[in-house]
Formats: sequence, C-alpha cells, structure tokens
Amino acid sequence: MTDYIIIGHGLAGSVMAHHLIARGQKVEVFEAELPHSASAVSVGLVNPLIGPKLNPPFMITECLIENELFFRQCERAWGRKFYQTIPLHRLFMSEKQKKAWNEMEKNSDFISFQNGQWNSVQYQKIGILAEHGGGITKNAWQLDVPSFLGASKEYLIANNSWRNSAFEKGSKKEGQKIIFCEGFRVQENPWFKDLPFAPARGEVLTVQSKINLALSNGSWHLPGFADYAYLGSTWDHQNLFSGPTENGKKEILRKCNFVDFSKKDFPQHLSGVRSGTKDRQPIIGVHPDHGNLFLFNGFGSRGTSTIPHYAKKMTDFLLKNKPLPTESNLNRFI
Ligand SMILES: Cc1cc2nc3c(=O)[nH]c(=O)nc-3n(C[C@H](O)[C@H](O)[C@H](O)COP(=O)(O)OP(=O)(O)OC[C@H]3O[C@@H](n4cnc5c(N)ncnc54)[C@H](O)[C@@H]3O)c2cc1C
Repeated sequence: MTDYIIIGHGLAGSVMAHHLIARGQKVEVFEAELPHSASAVSVGLVNPLIGPKLNPPFMITECLIENELFFRQCERAWGRKFYQTIPLHRLFMSEKQKKAWNEMEKNSDFISFQNGQWNSVQYQKIGILAEHGGGITKNAWQLDVPSFLGASKEYLIANNSWRNSAFEKGSKKEGQKIIFCEGFRVQENPWFKDLPFAPARGEVLTVQSKINLALSNGSWHLPGFADYAYLGSTWDHQNLFSGPTENGKKEILRKCNFVDFSKKDFPQHLSGVRSGTKDRQPIIGVHPDHGNLFLFNGFGSRGTSTIPHYAKKMTDFLLKNKPLPTESNLNRFI
C-alpha cells in the first residue's frame, strides 16, 4: 500500500522520496523525463557566499549540515560517491568587492567560509585573468547531480517504487496523498499553477579546460568529467522552451572572460528551466482545499543547497504535523 505518490524525480522529488523512505513510508515516484528540467543541467554547486556582496544565503549553516547528513547517508547506503567539498575561487570584479572580502575576513561570522586570497599574479601563472585577485571560499560543495539521480532511480526501481510515466491527473484513488515536485512544469498543474512562481531558463556549456580550479565571478567555471569543465550560466524569464541558443552561448563566454576560450570547442550546450518564485523562497505545504495534495517546489537556482533541509521540514510536517518554516510555507499566499 503506497503512502505517498511523488510526481517528478528531479532533485526535489528524489530527495523528498528518500526522506520519506528513511522514515518508513512506501512511495511511488512518477517521472516522465520531460525536456528542459533543471536537475538535468544543474552543475550541483553549493556556494556559501553569493551575489555581488558575497553574503551567506539564508539558513546556509543549517542547509550545509542537512546536506552532509543526507548525501553521506545515501552514499553509504548505495556505495557511491557524489558529494564533495571544493575550494571555490571567487574572482573579485572590483576593488570594492575585494575590500568587502577583506572586511569579512575580520568578522568571526565568516571564518567558516573564507580561506585566504590569491593575487592577480598567482592567477596569471595558470592562465586566469583576475585583475583584482580572488578569495578562496571554504565550505563550498559540489553534488554530481546525474550520479545522485542515477543511483536514486536504481534504488527506486529495485524497490518497485518507480513509474516511468507522466502522472495522469484523476488516475489515482480519491484521497491518495500526492506530493507534486514537477519543477517549472507546475505551470500545468491545475491545483498549484496560480502560485507566484517566476521560472528562469539557464544555459550551460562544456569546454576542454586544463584549469583544475572551481572559479566564479558570478558566472562559473567548474571542473567536471575528464579534462572538461562546465561554464555557465544565463537568465531568461521569457523564452522558457527556446534553448539552448547562440545568444546564450555568447553571454556565457562574455561573462566567463577570466579565461580565453576563443579557440575552444563546446561539445555540449544545454538548457534547463529553474523553478524560481517571486519572493525567492521555496513554496512547500498543503493545498488549502485538498488536504491530500502537497507541493514541494520553487527551489530556484539553489536547489542543491536547500532541498535536503526543506525535505526534512516537509517530512516532519507530513508525519509529525510539525509546522513548516514560515518563509517557505505555501500558506503565506492565502
Ligand atoms: C543551467 C542551470 C544550472 C544550475 N546550477 C545549479 C547549481 O550549480 N547549484 C544549485 O543549487 N542549483 C542549480 N540549478 C538549479 C537546480 O537545478 C534546481 O534548483 C533543482 O534542480 C530543481 O529541482 P526540481 O526537482 O524542483 O525541478 P526539476 O529538476 O525541473 O525536476 C522536475 C521533474 O519533474 C518531472 N515532471 C514534471 N511534470 C511531471 C508529470 N506530470 N509527471 C511525471 N513527471 C513530471 C520532470 O520530468 C522533471 O524530471 C541550476 C539550474 C539551471 C537551469
């Protein structure tokens, strides 16, 4: 007897499924492998200092703790490795940004996120243009998203919890508990489509790169498989189904101008849609009129950092009736 049906096996649906399974629930996961999914193109970066002001994002310490617990538990159970820490070099865009970093170095609140600086000469020696130098971010992580999702799918298939099809609305028994984790496709969901979502399409390139460093100036160069790296990304709120595009490629190369990629090939060029929200917080909780329909969505550009934390909160809500965090609770719109 299934306790919960989960619609979608991106990062949100998969992490939600394993939280419930770990608490003794029987789940059935429906995945239709639709194009433009965010998790299919995500590079899985967990960055603890974000934006031009290099601020730690909301609840980052709690999220890092929950990530460590959740992904390590999956690694042990499935005999795979997919979550690792990476020194992330934040290339300063200006002297002002460098000054902000220097100020943070004096503040004990940031001690767990900073690990020194490199100057422009150090970067130049390995072919990186960084006029203002850069700061090394400690406690940045990278999830190998395809490996994690592949291992999760294998587990669900082996436990007869996987349905390789679209969920047909109306095909289940009245009252069946359903958790919708459809990413930006929530826009086709009759019960939740009117919530204030703000989807944004993003593109990624792969490039052969001998630079074995994770670099970011807002855009990023992340070492990937063999001697290839990922470059990204872009933001497009209008043309969700149109990518990848030539303009997207140009934009990525313009923003990642800290390395000369002019003579390079780009074997892969991908596009996916982030399921963002207007207030930039996830939307999780129960439908106001249908107590059996739940939503777990809206993780925007930071799903790798936040999904395990909110999946734990959602599981506590479902199984123990504990209140959901106010900032993410669907009921803030009612
Ligand atoms: C270019 C790019 C780079 C990114 N890089 C990062 C990063 O470095 N770090 C980070 O934290 N985040 C990153 N993100 C964001 C991250 O990918 C998302 O936060 C996260 O993957 C969202 O997962 P999700 O499961 O909510 O949605 P999705 O990944 O979109 O998954 C939804 C799933 O539901 C399925 N589905 C939908 N409707 C149905 C249905 N009716 N029946 C069955 N199945 C259905 C779809 O096929 C899909 O697999 C990036 C996003 C993009 C676009």
